[in-house]
Amino acid sequence: YFIIFHLQISDDSPGYNEAIVLLFFLQISDDSPGYSKEMFCIPRHYEEDLKRVLIPAGFISDRIERLARDIVRDFEQEGIVALCVLKGGYKFFTDLVEKIQQLNSNLGKSVPLAVDFIRLKSYVDDTSSGEIEVVGGDNLENLKGKNVLVVEDIIDTGRTMQKLLGILNNIHPKSIKVVSLLVKRTKRSIGYRPDYTGFEIPDIFIVGYALDYNEYFRDLNHLCEINETGMKKYAS
Ligand code: 5GP
Repeated sequence: YFIIFHLQISDDSPGYNEAIVLLFFLQISDDSPGYSKEMFCIPRHYEEDLKRVLIPAGFISDRIERLARDIVRDFEQEGIVALCVLKGGYKFFTDLVEKIQQLNSNLGKSVPLAVDFIRLKSYVDDTSSGEIEVVGGDNLENLKGKNVLVVEDIIDTGRTMQKLLGILNNIHPKSIKVVSLLVKRTKRSIGYRPDYTGFEIPDIFIVGYALDYNEYFRDLNHLCEINETGMKKYAS
């Protein structure tokens, strides 16, 4: 890649076709090489800490545009409270809400939208601590009787979402739907699937686009795979 200086779309690249649309999410396959970080702008302070770019920022943005359209179609006239799961979900949340607002202004139909926040914590280094804590957010009682759209960054085992849905169900919202930008293909999954998914990705630890490793890498636009150097440098 260093010598080539351009991105190659290979002869057997499937592109993004109808078969993929039928799955309702984009699959990044286990043998996908991703993209060399030399092909994109990476902050200097993270250059040596990343293995590769898995999903470039522009691609994330295009996919979110379509998720927003699907959500507006499903909730038309109903009104939703979009619940941001902090901290990892903040960029996805902001971009999704912005796209929904654009559709509200530009389509004949629109979805009234309120926002709310919850903060959960479960990961230390690159493994789930097993215990999921609600460590902040608004008074959840406000969600009673509302259509709640939970906006999450990534579903790994699914335990965090299972726990959160348990908490939310006790408040008796009118309905709960979940949109997750990413779902990991992992044997550790408890089988939970969100209502809307951006991308299904291999079982690797990724950072960027607000996803962190011990609070680092949130200030990176692309979704990237961290390398050994990064893991060591930013270990807790
Ligand atoms: P789960 O409970 O589904 O195993 O884990 C969900 C949470 O773990 C996510 O909300 C996220 O905070 C964290 N997580 C899981 N996989 C990754 C990953 O690859 N990268 C980062 N940065 N966080 C992850």
